[in-house]
Amino acid sequence: MSGLKRGLRDALARRRDDHLYRTRRVIESPQGPEVVIDGQRYLNFCSNDYLGLANHPQVIEAMQRGAARYGVGSGAAHLICGHSSAHHALEEELAAFTKRQRALLFSTGYMANLGVMGALLGRGDTVLEDRLNHASLIDAARLSGARLQRYPHADVATLEKRLADGKATLIASDGVFSMDGDISPVVQLAALAREHKAPLMIDDAHGLGVLGAHGGGSLEQLGLGTDDVPVLMGTLGKAFGTFGAFVAGSEELIETLIQQARSYIYTTALPPALAEATRASLKLVQTETWRRERLRQLIARFTSGAAELNLPLMPSPTPIQPLLVGDSAQALALSEKLFARNIIVSAIRPPTVPQGQARLRITLSCAHSEAQVDRLLEELSVHTHDTV
Ligand SMILES: *Cc1c(COP(=O)(O)O)cnc(C)c1O
Repeated sequence: MSGLKRGLRDALARRRDDHLYRTRRVIESPQGPEVVIDGQRYLNFCSNDYLGLANHPQVIEAMQRGAARYGVGSGAAHLICGHSSAHHALEEELAAFTKRQRALLFSTGYMANLGVMGALLGRGDTVLEDRLNHASLIDAARLSGARLQRYPHADVATLEKRLADGKATLIASDGVFSMDGDISPVVQLAALAREHKAPLMIDDAHGLGVLGAHGGGSLEQLGLGTDDVPVLMGTLGKAFGTFGAFVAGSEELIETLIQQARSYIYTTALPPALAEATRASLKLVQTETWRRERLRQLIARFTSGAAELNLPLMPSPTPIQPLLVGDSAQALALSEKLFARNIIVSAIRPPTVPQGQARLRITLSCAHSEAQVDRLLEELSVHTHDTV
């Protein structure tokens, strides 16, 4: 056996011993409250399809129409000849939706974050980030060459101290924390950002579509505009149910990204049909307010049920409802017990979350029924108390 192969085999074995080994389940159906695995139906509580749009007939039809009109491949990067009228219309609609001058599509949220920080930061700059920010914001800061300083989660007082030296170039935070579900203290962050002249960037991957009366996300809910948060990043693969991401902001920000964001410039544009699908889902996000209302009702049903059962839920007002387990082996065992009862909930372990904070990340969708939420509570009550 070669040295490389042996080294990898040993490292994989260690990962397994530490209960950190990750595997994939093969899904044979569309996303929805139930999915099919190996011919069997499972109740699904780990998707980010919060509004039930990933398999919506109007979204599917828009993608089909888009494919019929534009074909499948975009053919090139946006700056070469891949920027279609479908992309352009979606960008204009996203700008209007976020009440910003312009919006720019990226292929994924990961790439949007890399693109923004790569374009705005360089050696000699300092970026301040919440310790629980999404991995893509951390990687983006590292790749930019700027100095990355992480402040304790949602700790505005420590952030203020770090800002005192006047060296910060950018503050970046998730709007809704992806593994905790809590909402960032964006009002305070915006006030500090303004006072210390360090622009604020919010990654609202889990807030957009879900929070705010019109689905405008954590910023709409908190009443914040472009002056407060000049750089807004949103993803389209979660509440929007499609794929891709965007950055919204001023004319100058977007033009700078077009000129300088390497993950925008050096990659093939999204398929135009996907942009058409997102245009349809954006309409549904804005007009079908009952989806958010229904989601809120299900969240309330789940959290009050969990409180009655004394389940160790972490406090969260969003559809991300983590159940704190602590130990990775126990989190995995609990997830496997639920799977044996035809319920999928993923165990989230380090390094995605801090050591000793392994958890089940339960996510709710407006497409779940009350009976399905009750069934989850019932199974959690049986299996949590003998595992945790
Ligand atoms: C999912 C996610 C991303 C990455 O978005 P993709 O489009 O999946 O690459 C970025 N930030 C946060 C907070 C996320 O949850």
